[in-house]
Amino acid sequence: MTKIPHRLYLTEDQMPKQWYNLRADMKDLPDPMLNPATFKPVTEEDLYPVFCRELAHQELDNETRYVDIPEEVQDFYKMYRPSPLIRAYNLEKALDTPAKIYYKYEGNNTSGSHKLNSAIAQAYYAKKQGLTSLTTETGAGQWGTALAEACSYYHLPLTVYMVKCSYEQKPFRKAIIQTFDGEIIPSPSSTTNAGRAILEKDPNTSGSLGCAISEAVEKAVTTEGCRYVLGSVLNQVLLHQSVIGLESKMAMEMLDEYPDIVIGCAGGGSNLGGLIAPFMQDKLTGKSNPRIVAVEPASCPSLTRGRYAYDFCDTGRVTPLARMYTLGCGFIPSASHAGGLRYHGMSPILSKLYHDGYMEAVSVEQTRVFEAAVFFAKQETILPAPESSHAIRAAIDEALKCRESGEARTILFGLTGTGYFDMNAYSSYLNGTMTDFIPTDEDLEKAFAELPKIPGIQ
Ligand SMILES: *Cc1c(COP(=O)(O)O)cnc(C)c1O
Repeated sequence: MTKIPHRLYLTEDQMPKQWYNLRADMKDLPDPMLNPATFKPVTEEDLYPVFCRELAHQELDNETRYVDIPEEVQDFYKMYRPSPLIRAYNLEKALDTPAKIYYKYEGNNTSGSHKLNSAIAQAYYAKKQGLTSLTTETGAGQWGTALAEACSYYHLPLTVYMVKCSYEQKPFRKAIIQTFDGEIIPSPSSTTNAGRAILEKDPNTSGSLGCAISEAVEKAVTTEGCRYVLGSVLNQVLLHQSVIGLESKMAMEMLDEYPDIVIGCAGGGSNLGGLIAPFMQDKLTGKSNPRIVAVEPASCPSLTRGRYAYDFCDTGRVTPLARMYTLGCGFIPSASHAGGLRYHGMSPILSKLYHDGYMEAVSVEQTRVFEAAVFFAKQETILPAPESSHAIRAAIDEALKCRESGEARTILFGLTGTGYFDMNAYSSYLNGTMTDFIPTDEDLEKAFAELPKIPGIQ
């Protein structure tokens, strides 16, 4: 048998022409999003002031199994996709494990992460509808960068609210977003009512994704021709990210491989939801039964320690209510270095699958994550993003279990991006000043106490 190559790229012709909508195969669907004023399920029309029409449709469409990827989006994808599926031969050797480790690498574009896959789709639909500007929030900066790239491609002005601690920690992120003509505002800011209210309560806050979302949503609903776009959590984003999983599955099939374990880091759940989509389809339809593992930071453990409840998607309590694993929309995570994983909630689709036992979740402390990141970088010559390194940590732990048991499992994990903008975090790990923050039960109870009360439901 010929040896499996280190890197497998699909050809352009083999790239997916449709996204896959996991909801179409879920027997038990996520609970509907609720309008926060009426507590009734939201309709597409309810979402029009915030989202563009096609995306509002995708958000609520539980039935269409495959959605055509617009040709313009396919053409954009071809500038940086297909992304490689890589066999981690060197990592396997260094771990002395019988496990076979594969990873799907999404860091090969300027945004440095998978986020461009959804950014370009969202900018495309906005442009097609004739909108004149977009607004969003960004945590660690990858989403803001990806969306700035996408908006500049379609000549759409963009305002990005960037979580204040990231804005201060990552000045070069700002420069890239500006390179692509994005306007960038540290959040909370005094430019919105939501921002001013949060600043009044806590003038020294380091900010959070939830409060940046409130600001961006406010900007969208108060600006003519402007809509809000979000880089994770939403059903539409998981749909777009299914391109990761579809490519992975096809590449593995070409190698005559199938994963026993699929691992991804989970912030709002978009890369994980995208990576696992076709494998979860097999699981839901009884074709196969791979283990699916979500990895989250111990500092922001929504799946492993959160409540499955209706909650706002933002701190300002203006978005619809989604039933999801949440730490409470008032939970402000510590200024952890994995900025992209600092979100209080989790994709309602993944939350439901986890709740129904289709998925496992683990949480890991950041010093162990960086230990894995540095080890991985040396073996595989890719400097991973801190977020991605959560998945690396879990993949290494699984591979080490295989070494103990002698079982040759096939592991697939998502390597979502590169860590070049996170060198402060790497430095703090390397010079020994990095600490592990784990919220106490009391911290969590405080935020749970503020979960919205919904008559007849919770
Ligand atoms: C944003 C981000 C994540 C986390 O977001 P998800 O929506 O959970 O995928 C993970 N890795 C990188 C590199 C990111 O930029």
